[in-house]
Amino acid sequence: EQIREERMAYLAGEKRIKAVTVAFTDIEGRLHMLDYDKKYLLKSYDNLTFDGSSIRGFSAQAESDLRLAIDWPAFYWLPADIFGAGKVLVFGFVMEKDGTPYASDFRARLREATETLYAREGIVMNAANEIEGFLFKGRDAERHYHETNAFEFISTGGYYHSLPGDSLRAFIDTSAEAQRAMGFSNEKDHPEVAPSQFEMNYKYAELNVAADQVQLYKLLARQVAAQMGLTASFLPKPVAGVNGNGMHTNISANKDGKNLYFDAKGRDGLSAKAWDFLNRILANAAELCLVLNPSVNAYRRLDPHFEAPNQIKVSPTDRGSMIRIPLGNEQSARIEVRSVGPDANPYMLYYALLKTGLEGPSGEPEDTTKRPRTRFLPDNIFDAIRLFKGSRFLADALGEDIHAKFAEVKLLQAERCPKALGAIVKACEIQFH
Ligand code: GLU
Ligand code: MG
Ligand code: MG
Repeated sequence: EQIREERMAYLAGEKRIKAVTVAFTDIEGRLHMLDYDKKYLLKSYDNLTFDGSSIRGFSAQAESDLRLAIDWPAFYWLPADIFGAGKVLVFGFVMEKDGTPYASDFRARLREATETLYAREGIVMNAANEIEGFLFKGRDAERHYHETNAFEFISTGGYYHSLPGDSLRAFIDTSAEAQRAMGFSNEKDHPEVAPSQFEMNYKYAELNVAADQVQLYKLLARQVAAQMGLTASFLPKPVAGVNGNGMHTNISANKDGKNLYFDAKGRDGLSAKAWDFLNRILANAAELCLVLNPSVNAYRRLDPHFEAPNQIKVSPTDRGSMIRIPLGNEQSARIEVRSVGPDANPYMLYYALLKTGLEGPSGEPEDTTKRPRTRFLPDNIFDAIRLFKGSRFLADALGEDIHAKFAEVKLLQAERCPKALGAIVKACEIQFH
């Protein structure tokens, strides 16, 4: 309430701001933005409505009007050299007409889940994302993919060694600078293994903030690239034969400033709590896979020959395992979920990981007399959808309706692509995120 008053007074007094962008995310992870005139917003902030029927996977025709509530603390200046002068963005919550939270809005649901956890146990869950992407020639490379069937690299520079004058380097520097201006704590940025590929890493933040940062970062990267006449793509596997784009998700839990996942005497330096969380993720990994990899294209990426995991297992070293335990200390002990693509809905991703890690059914105890059987993640979206639909736990955790709706939206998309995909990425796989 106090933050709302402060922000509103600030908006009223700040002459450079003429309009305010209110942003929310659909079930598929796409960021939607509505621009409100500042004066109108200041007057009507508690009565904002919009038509949800035009957003895929959102409301049915009959219930088209939805409400937007502003989340005042999630307020950002967009850097003027990239977005133009006087641009601000604030995140919103989507609500039903009667003001109850809208079930497809995972931003609101994630908030509720983290608040409940904090109220019950005083625990704050943190995440740090490692978002990878490609930079391609042309402003609208993804949109025009169906005409050309190819993406053109803009740089051949590989891991760490591109030249300072390289466009990839310039893109990374400009993006990093813009992120700092928006208050992100980035840690390191670098060209990635594949030509024209980049990676940005941030300091961990609590789940709600970390998810907002994923959305803001992708928006920013796309805008920086467009300004350079290029396209930033977050498709998991835009080019066959080279590494794809991951969004490795590092998770830890904190209580009273202490990292609960650290235990010097624990296996691989992790506490029993961390092991319990990751074992539950592993036990439900095949069913959960659709949330982490929600596109046809994502399943091309999950190939250990390209450092993307397809095995349902945990390892401190092997990058073919879906969970890795990075070398950590008291501050940095964490688990790294590697089987996530950058087109996942970050709010739904965290919500599902949180629920599963804390409450998911744990698997059968391993039979130590036999050699463990290797389990694999689904290698195509049809299997992933089938497994997802079959999970009683996920139906309960996400809500029966949303569980069914998500599977249905994904099946519709998958059916637009031929089942046998072949070696070349098909235009039907290209989705704008
Ligand atoms: N690009 C790889 C992936 O698709 C990850 C490379 C790395 O370990 O950073 O997940
Ligand atoms: Mg990487
Ligand atoms: Mg990583």
